[in-house]
Formats: sequence, structure tokens, C-alpha cells
Amino acid sequence: MTRFDDRFVRSLPADESAENTIRQVRGAAYSKVAPTKVPNPQVLAWVPEVAAMLGLPASPTNEWAQVLGGNATLEGMVPYAACYGGHQFGNWAGQLGDGRAITLGELVAPDEARWELQLKGPGQTPYSRRADGRAVLRSSLRELVCSEAMFHLGVPTTRALALVGTGEDVVRDLLYDGNARPEPGAITTRVAKSFLRFGTYELPASRNDVALLKRLVDFTITTHFPSLGAPSPETYLRFFEEVTRRTAVLMMEWQRVGFVHGVMNTDNMSILGLTIDYGPYGWLEGFDPSWTPNTTDLPGRRYAFGNQPSVAQWNLLCLANALFPLIGDEKALEAVLDQYSELAAAEQLSMMRRKLGLLAAEEHDREDRELMRDCFRTLVSTETDYTLFFRRLATVSTDASDAQLVAPLAEAFYAPAEVSGDVLEGLAAWLRRLLARAARDGRAPEARAAAMNATNPLYVPRNYLAQTVISATAQGELSMVREWLEVLKRPYDEQPGKGVWAAKRPEWARHQPGSSMLSCSS
Ligand code: AMP
Ligand code: MG
Repeated sequence: MTRFDDRFVRSLPADESAENTIRQVRGAAYSKVAPTKVPNPQVLAWVPEVAAMLGLPASPTNEWAQVLGGNATLEGMVPYAACYGGHQFGNWAGQLGDGRAITLGELVAPDEARWELQLKGPGQTPYSRRADGRAVLRSSLRELVCSEAMFHLGVPTTRALALVGTGEDVVRDLLYDGNARPEPGAITTRVAKSFLRFGTYELPASRNDVALLKRLVDFTITTHFPSLGAPSPETYLRFFEEVTRRTAVLMMEWQRVGFVHGVMNTDNMSILGLTIDYGPYGWLEGFDPSWTPNTTDLPGRRYAFGNQPSVAQWNLLCLANALFPLIGDEKALEAVLDQYSELAAAEQLSMMRRKLGLLAAEEHDREDRELMRDCFRTLVSTETDYTLFFRRLATVSTDASDAQLVAPLAEAFYAPAEVSGDVLEGLAAWLRRLLARAARDGRAPEARAAAMNATNPLYVPRNYLAQTVISATAQGELSMVREWLEVLKRPYDEQPGKGVWAAKRPEWARHQPGSSMLSCSS
């Protein structure tokens, strides 16, 4: 039998009121709240590897469909919505909380590992503010597929177990243009060691509730960072250092695979350094550091691809402010924040070396930094698909004319006719420098190519593919999402016959909502 034992619920103060009404919740880490029942829960996608990890059946039973649709709970589950705050687009937003998420419980897996099971879209909670607590199929499928893709890409992330259609429509205004329409509703089951966020600590700090802040931080350290030692001001500082380190690593992982989160508010920053809260995210197609998939973010482009590392640092500053009452040493916190820049720069160099197929060596640091910088410059000389460019880079070889040298990259260019004259020359010149530098590593070309292909994925969950799969799934054709999830399990392997899942964005998708732009309206 599946065992549940929620340490979060066991260790931290609950909201005294059990009423499911929208309000400010003080002095508590969470509110107990049951999911709202739905008419007809149907499992639309099930992730067998996650099920196996949890000790659940390889295919969904009716009982699990009911539980994950929010219609039933199992013995030992104490469903709750977590209380947290956050900075949204640079401004303090006060209390936010799980407005459309409910944790069912902490599952103790057969190997004794513990996993939080959380429903996204199960109905209203005390934190729903003005919204319905529901999610639509489109955004739920996007979350399930992308979080699993990220896992297989090797990027720290929350995971997903199931996508359940609710049998109920949800009304959404996709473009915020007053044209609201009903869409099928769905619930994703998310799975993680914890969904604690920067905003979890910011809220009690903003309310001067140092007692609750301390309980939350102590719980986090003893439960999720036990190697840091018993809670003390020194441990709290080490905790902040560790979160900073993980965040820097995560930002560089996002850069490596071309992921843009889209809403890096502090309530969407995981304290464990995971990718969390998949909303209007996107994958870089044409390389453009200023690209953001989120229409809400278009005015300032705060969360654009190239800004993610510096926004993460700003978010860490918010976390530092929240932890300050427990640490009391401004200088020490500032020193950690300063280290972030160095850490991120070092991570970036090492990540880009792997993408470019170069071995690390201090004597090449300067040259490699220049190669990296010029790589980004070259990538904007003509619209170039980020994923395909790096993937095909492993097949570029020496002893050829400019055109021959660049030919293996052809698939990556959105406007092939532009790749002539100065653009072609620039590309070829940069490739020659790269190959000359790589030769000095003395590595066999096959070994270099294999290493590059293990870093540069071929299959990423491109936005326009998601649109196609969403339409099929909404019409009850479930084989497509299954096939996509299968392909995304091996993103670094060339999979014969699966080319459609690797193709660059077709022209029809360039300006289509959902394919090139997304709103928070999910
Ligand atoms: P997000 O930017 O999606 O992470 O959401 C920010 C805040 O809005 C969180 O507190 C969410 O729980 C809440 N929220 C977003 N969508 C809904 C919804 N449909 N119903 C209730 N709360 C929501
Ligand atoms: Mg969120």
C-alpha cells in the first residue's frame, strides 16, 4: 500500500481556519484544503517511469484517476495549499500562495525516498485571489511534457506523473483581448522533493514574523539540506550560499538547452534549485538574447533569455533580504551575492566549452571566452536555430571552402539565402578559429563529436510542436503526446524516423499565439 507521511504538515504551523475562503493567512505555512470535485476525470497521459519511482502501477487505475482528478484522497493524505509571497516583475506582491495547486501528501516510495505529490488546477484555495483555481488542458500538457523533457535533458526540475482531463470546461482569455472562451480543463500531477520557493521565506520576513521564518528555514535545512549541519546563523549563511550555487548552475543549464522560463518571479524560484512552475515558458528557436515567450513580459523583456542569469541574482537578493533577520550579517550576504557573478561566469565558460567541444584548460581561458562571445555574435548575424546549430556543429570539419565548412549547419538557418557574402565569411572564419582551438586539445574527432552530442540536445519541446500535440490531445487522440514523451526521453540520441520532432519552427508558426507567444492566462 502507498504510504504518505507529510513532514511539512507534521512540522509546520497550519492555518487555524479550515474555511476555504480567500483571505490573508498569517502565522501559518499552509492551509488544509481539499480539491474541488470534477465531473469526469480521465487520465490523458501517464508517465510510467515516475509511477515506478513512486511505486505506483505502470498504467493508471480508476482509483488513481479519481485521486489525481481531485475526487478522492487516500489514507494518510492531508491535502494543503502552501502560503507564500513573492516579487512579481520586480515589485513586492504580498501574499500569493498556492492559488491553483494543492499538495496531496508526501509519498514514501518503495526505496524510502520521499516525494511530494501536488495537483495543479484542482480548484480554489484560500490563495486563489480573484481566480478559479483551475488549469486548462493546453497549459497542463505543456507543463507535463516540458518538465519530463527537462529531466531527460539532465536539467534540475520538478517532474510530472499524470495529466488528467476533468470533463469540465474552464473559461480563459488567451490573449487578454476580451475574447474569453471555454477550453477543456485538466489537472497535472507534479512530483518533487519539495515545492518550497524563495517567496516562502519572503512572506513571513515581510510581516516581521521571524518565528515563522525561522521555523521554515530550520525545516528546510534539516529536511532538504541536512549536510549543512544543525541550524545556526553560520548554517543559515551556508544555506544561502548553497541556494546561490544551485541557482547559478540552473541558469547555465537553461542557457545550455535554450530554455526561457518566462515568469521568473520570486514565487517561481525553487529553493532546491529546480525548474519550477512551467507557465508561458518557451524554447529559443532563432537565437535572440532579448527573446521572451511571455506576452505579459513584452514591454520590459525582464525575463528574456539573456536576462535570466541577472534576474536570478536579483531574486537571490530578495532571498538574502528575507534571510537577513536570521543571519544579521549584511556584509557576508553581500559577499555571497557578489560570488554569484563569478560563479555564473565560470559555469558559463565550462558549459559553453562543452557545447563547443573544447576541453577545459586555464591557458585557453581568454581565447575560449572570446570564442564564446564571438559565437553569440555570429549567431545573430543571420536568424539561426539555437538547438540545430549546436547539434550540427559536431559535424563541421576542416579543409574546406567557406561554403563547404558551413554546409553542415544549413538546417539551422531560417533564411538560407542570407548566408552568403559577409555573413558566410564571418561564420566560416569563426568556425576555423573553433576548429583550430579544438585541434589543440588533441582529442579524436569522434570522441569530441560524441561529447558534444551528449551536451547539445536534438529534441527539445518546441512551442509549435506543443500546439500540434495539444490540438490532437484535445480531440481525444492520445497517441501523439505518448510518442512525443517517448522521443523526449532520449533527447541526445539521433532517433531514426523521428525527424518531425526535431524540425525547426515552420513559417506558419512564427507569429501564432501559443507557438511564438504565450500569456500567463493559463
Ligand atoms: P504564477 O505566475 O502562475 O506562478 O501565479 C502567480 C500566483 O497566481 C500564484 O499565487 C498562483 O497560485 C496564482 N494563480 C495563477 N493562476 C491561478 C488560477 N487560475 N486560479 C487561482 N490562482 C491562480
Ligand atoms: Mg507560481
